[in-house]
Amino acid sequence: MDVWNPHIERLPKAQLEALQLRLLKMQTRRMWELSPFYHERMRSAGVMPGDIKTLVDAKRLPFMTKKDLRDGYPNKLMMCDRGDLIRYHASSGTTGKPTIVGYTRNDLENWSESLARAMTSFGLGKKDIIQVANTYGLFSGGLGFHYATEKIGATVIPASTGNTDRQLDMICDLGVTAMAATPSYLMYLGEVAEKKGIDIRKDTKLRFGLLGGEPWSDRMRDRIYETMGVRGFNCFGASELSGPLFMECAEQNGIHFWGDLALLEIIDPDTGEVLGPGQKGEMVITMLQKEAFPIMRYRMGDITSMMEEPCPCGRAHPRITRIQGRVDDMIIIRGINVFPSQVEHSLMQHTELGNEFQLIVDRKGHLDTLLVRAELKPEAFTDNIIELNALRERISNRLKNILNISANVELVQPGTLPRFEGKAKRVTDRREY
Ligand code: ZN
Repeated sequence: MDVWNPHIERLPKAQLEALQLRLLKMQTRRMWELSPFYHERMRSAGVMPGDIKTLVDAKRLPFMTKKDLRDGYPNKLMMCDRGDLIRYHASSGTTGKPTIVGYTRNDLENWSESLARAMTSFGLGKKDIIQVANTYGLFSGGLGFHYATEKIGATVIPASTGNTDRQLDMICDLGVTAMAATPSYLMYLGEVAEKKGIDIRKDTKLRFGLLGGEPWSDRMRDRIYETMGVRGFNCFGASELSGPLFMECAEQNGIHFWGDLALLEIIDPDTGEVLGPGQKGEMVITMLQKEAFPIMRYRMGDITSMMEEPCPCGRAHPRITRIQGRVDDMIIIRGINVFPSQVEHSLMQHTELGNEFQLIVDRKGHLDTLLVRAELKPEAFTDNIIELNALRERISNRLKNILNISANVELVQPGTLPRFEGKAKRVTDRREY
């Protein structure tokens, strides 16, 4: 297997950590000097750049959350000169304003470098034809894979999303070898192919799937391989970090986080304490080289653990297990982030509804569905179907405005939904991953 950047990818652990420390010192110094926001945050946390003497000292730096990014709209967290900014992307914000992320030339370079290393690590190269079926545009998915594909000298087909018939034609006619997509879309494509009498395994050259953007499991990976002969490689990224960034190597056992680009910590989400390898907690990331939109100890909300044993591929860069859930109950439905708190907020606008509700996420065929079950107040309970349907319609419209996806609404009798002592379990996710 080729290695894209042997100098960095083959650094022994001690040297990699020395490099990380050097980069962390430089990055905190830049943030302290150039950004009033980070300066104030660090001052409040009682830490100065000079206090960072070892990597362990990173834990003295303050955390950031999504709220900081939202509050910073549009440019408060941007840290480069206006003239050095060469691109904007925006996150798929569900409430109010999205998060705007800016990039300098070096930021774009490091982004495609990161994916170029990953793609090379599991066997992609110049000979490959990669169809990118992620959204192009403000969302960072499509262009992330696009530039990385060009960087490794493979051929890119910027297919973007939709038009499955055309996607299939190109796979067949152009000899596509790899596809970047959500796992559910790849599965759907497989179904459409089957209906048309195309056997992906025999009739096409498609062998690699670059898959992410929604939760999925090893079971789904197996099924994709069994039905289509496509090996799925797990990808992790987020618009706050640049876009899709980190992937599994050929071992398909954990995602490598390039240590020169990101400092990864796993913390106890309740206490904020840094956890050791093998311990499950919330992922926290500090990007070590980002210029326009750096982030410091950003709490991703994703639950995972760091893997202890060295990867057989020989890379000493940290590895994480598959994402095992969310700290905040966020669910991803058709690529859109949905928080139960948004649903609650929306439902509470209707005086006919009580306080209890449930979200049921399912997957019908390839499509994720959301059912919102809400309890009526005793005084609003009626057997007048026309009245109830009109109410359902109003609730559904309001939800759609807030969530940007449509939900089925079911109204239930007062007192019929389960009650919880302590933290309510609002979400039932029945999707089979
Ligand atoms: Zn590896």
